[in-house]
Amino acid sequence: MCLVDSSTSIDIDSADLGTRYICLDCNTKFRGIGKKVKCPSCESVNVKKI
Ligand SMILES: [Zn+2]
Repeated sequence: MCLVDSSTSIDIDSADLGTRYICLDCNTKFRGIGKKVKCPSCESVNVKKI
């Protein structure tokens, strides 16, 4: 089976755009990629995956 054409579906799951985190200090929700994720608002590393 080799059905490659222009109808290739694009499955962009939200997980591909980065993991969602919430800052435990200021409650900002944001997306982060990588292991060291900082809050974009207060630059805290006190974040949690959601
Ligand atoms: Zn924060």
